[in-house]
Amino acid sequence: MGAVPRVGYGARPTVRHRSTQGSGMRATGTAGAPEPETTKPDQALPPWTILVVDDDPDVHTITRMVLRDLRFAERGITLLHAGSAAEAETILRQHGDVAVILLDVVMETEDAGLRLVRTIRETLVIEDTRIVLRTGQPGTVPERDVILRYDINDYRSRAELTDTRLISVVIAGLRAFDRIRTIAHQRDALARLNQTLEQRVADRTRALRDSETRLRSILDTSVVPMVISRVSNGRVMYANERARLLLGLTPSRADRSIWARPEDRRHLMARVAAEEKVEDFEAQVIAFDGHRFWALVAAIAMSLDGEPGVLMSFNDISGRKAMEDELKRLATTDPLTGIGNRRQLMDQGDREMRRASRYGSPLSVLMLDIDNFKRINDTYGHAVGDNALKAMVQCCLGQLREIDMLCRLGGEEFVALLPETPPEAAAVAAERLRSAVGGMTMAVPETGPLAFTISIGVAAPHPDDETLTDVLTRADEALYRAKRAGRNRVAAAT
Ligand code: GH3
Ligand code: MG
Ligand code: MG
Repeated sequence: MGAVPRVGYGARPTVRHRSTQGSGMRATGTAGAPEPETTKPDQALPPWTILVVDDDPDVHTITRMVLRDLRFAERGITLLHAGSAAEAETILRQHGDVAVILLDVVMETEDAGLRLVRTIRETLVIEDTRIVLRTGQPGTVPERDVILRYDINDYRSRAELTDTRLISVVIAGLRAFDRIRTIAHQRDALARLNQTLEQRVADRTRALRDSETRLRSILDTSVVPMVISRVSNGRVMYANERARLLLGLTPSRADRSIWARPEDRRHLMARVAAEEKVEDFEAQVIAFDGHRFWALVAAIAMSLDGEPGVLMSFNDISGRKAMEDELKRLATTDPLTGIGNRRQLMDQGDREMRRASRYGSPLSVLMLDIDNFKRINDTYGHAVGDNALKAMVQCCLGQLREIDMLCRLGGEEFVALLPETPPEAAAVAAERLRSAVGGMTMAVPETGPLAFTISIGVAAPHPDDETLTDVLTRADEALYRAKRAGRNRVAAAT
């Protein structure tokens, strides 16, 4: 908006304009002056246009004189003149920017002015232009109806419109017009701004939709199974085709959890929350048909339709896991006899030690050693020695319970862990093993049957023992005593 409108009189003379059209036109000044005149033709702001419509030539003359040097808001005045309603209508059809119309009510007809008002507002749809009516009778409302319906600014008597009071009437009209225009401009500017904003929102929405569509088509065509699950409850919000196939998901089954262990979801969500992106999460996933498999899960936080979610991709690592399991098994198994090796014994033994001490349950350890095994090797050969080791293991396994564990410590030395077994019962079990192995005969081709015996040392954990090694040491001492005492016997640790 500009500066506060100022009223004043410019130094330049107002040059009258006389329309040459219309029969009702009255001469209002120098004859033949053809163009509208402005107070300051070189000024940046155009002058206000005021249309005087009156069938009384004197009114035109006086109006021109009174308004000659009028300035409002640093703009001069252009006067247009019409002697009849018809002529005024013609002028208004050509000039869209008339600020104020000083309009006589009675012209061609008694109500020519009032009819013109209706035409201006309804037919020409000129709404901003301010209209001041000249009434016949001073102080009388010409047509209350017209004033209310057609936004009439003012109504004045001839006397009021033909003296200096006209100035204040015109200024009031110009001010009202100026305000209406300013408001209209602001409204237009707001409308444009609004349109721009709406356009931007529409553009952004479309861009988002496009990128979501793109994302979906990327996900849909990916050969890697991918799932977007809701953070709040872990439910599947989206699954690509590979994931649907892998997990047996259908729209009606999408709600179920895909984790074999519920805590896996919690762990993964906690890690995504902390790290945003997780690439190395291993978990067991369960498909709808109950089939479980190991998956390496990569997860990243993202939202879908405004809901916080996690995008996860799955790599079936069941094969790798099986290989790892096999490697682990190989690393803890004695290849000759198929039972656990020293590492297996130590792992399991320490676990059993902790459990026994926690629950105060008994635990016993047998250390077994084949008697004069060197002689078997020397006599029958190494292969027969190997077979003897295997036969001895099978024989002992046949004598032991399911929960007992037989491991090969090395060479022809073995250890049996007997959980829930006090030393006395362990001594009985040892005796059973010794007897069973001793009573066994192996058929050796060409050489005839082979029999051998074993010696066994029995020990149990002491309260101050920390590891299985402590117990094994005492079992070994007992075994040594059994050997010293003549072999093929059981000795208990003291
Ligand atoms: P003792 O009654 O005092 O135990 O005498 P031993 O001969 O059984 O004991 P020693 O420790 O002197 O000999 C153990 C032999 O076991 C020596 C070694 O060659 C043999 N041996 C160790 N591991 C294997 C194996 O895997 N296969 C075979 N065939 N022999 C083995
Ligand atoms: Mg031996
Ligand atoms: Mg030995």
